[in-house]
Amino acid sequence: MTGGLPVFGWNQADRRVYATRRQLAAERLSPGGPVAARLVWRKGKREAHLYLRRQAKPKRVMTWPQIESLAKALAARRYCPDCRRDVGYCLPRRYGHCFDCHTASERSRTP
Ligand SMILES: [Zn+2]
Repeated sequence: MTGGLPVFGWNQADRRVYATRRQLAAERLSPGGPVAARLVWRKGKREAHLYLRRQAKPKRVMTWPQIESLAKALAARRYCPDCRRDVGYCLPRRYGHCFDCHTASERSRTP
């Protein structure tokens, strides 16, 4: 039983339209829909499922550029503009600088 799906031999399927799960994964995509066709080779001994490229969705796993930009954003939140260093914790928003600078400015304010 083929389930009514189109069946392609090796290199018969249009790669612009169809892709295997592995091909999609190589492009950081995942099948966004059901199996659209079957790829059969070695006289029917081997087969793989084909998915429509236009239904493919980006994987939810973070990519390295995403991780890097997140790390940069976090680093920016740890950077104190007053003493110009990464203080190792996220700066309190209401101060806008690190606790050391805050304490120093508190001290300078009181006579
Ligand atoms: Zn500081």
